[in-house]
Amino acid sequence: MLLTRVYDALLTVAYPQACLVCGGSVEQRSLGVACKSCWESTRVFTDAETICWKCGVPSLGIDVPVGVRNEIRCRRCDSQSFTAARAIGSYENALRQSVLSLKRQPHVSSYLTDLLVAVARREPLTAVTRIIPVPLHDKRVRERGFNQAAVLATGLSKRLELPLDEASLIRVGASEKYRAGLDPKGRRDTVAGAFAVRHPRLVAGENILLVDDVFTTGATVDSCSEVLLAAGAGQVSVLTVARGKS
Ligand SMILES: [Zn+2]
Ligand SMILES: [Zn+2]
Repeated sequence: MLLTRVYDALLTVAYPQACLVCGGSVEQRSLGVACKSCWESTRVFTDAETICWKCGVPSLGIDVPVGVRNEIRCRRCDSQSFTAARAIGSYENALRQSVLSLKRQPHVSSYLTDLLVAVARREPLTAVTRIIPVPLHDKRVRERGFNQAAVLATGLSKRLELPLDEASLIRVGASEKYRAGLDPKGRRDTVAGAFAVRHPRLVAGENILLVDDVFTTGATVDSCSEVLLAAGAGQVSVLTVARGKS
């Protein structure tokens, strides 16, 4: 398994990568899985568009003066517990292939990291004090060998010089809930929220940035955010590579 990965890495150095979107060749290694023109045709959200200030959903189709953009809400995200969610752009072309490739190889191109850092340095994510990746099930980590959200979070933490916390937030398996003595209804209710905070002391009063690969309905990050806030976190924001259609 490890040898296969080393071999793959060597091949990547020896031969130029084929663009996973169009099949052409990728001009620079820093671009990762897609060529320049495929990156250009991928929708990356900019400061200039009107998005829901809370969940970050784009294309609200209204033109608002810059000064009041932080008052715009789509209202569909009202019940979600995080303060704000942002993504680099739409789950398409180069961003989609970057997400898929990250499930196979624990590598993030410098181009992708630059895009993530740019979003993290824009309002409203600028007040973050601690970075937490959305945890994978232990079983999945064993199968895959890594958690793709943790790979993203590690790169971000280095660039933003913020602490990376992979210990506080954990996935709680269904069997553990059973052992915890919840009745069937209680178990059903907590399936969606299969997370727990192991070290409340570490998250208390912190402004958490939750990192994941894709934001679709927001249900996963909402569950994480709920337990982090219950454990005393001051605020929870979310940063993902891409935003899927919910
Ligand atoms: Zn291409
Ligand atoms: Zn919204």
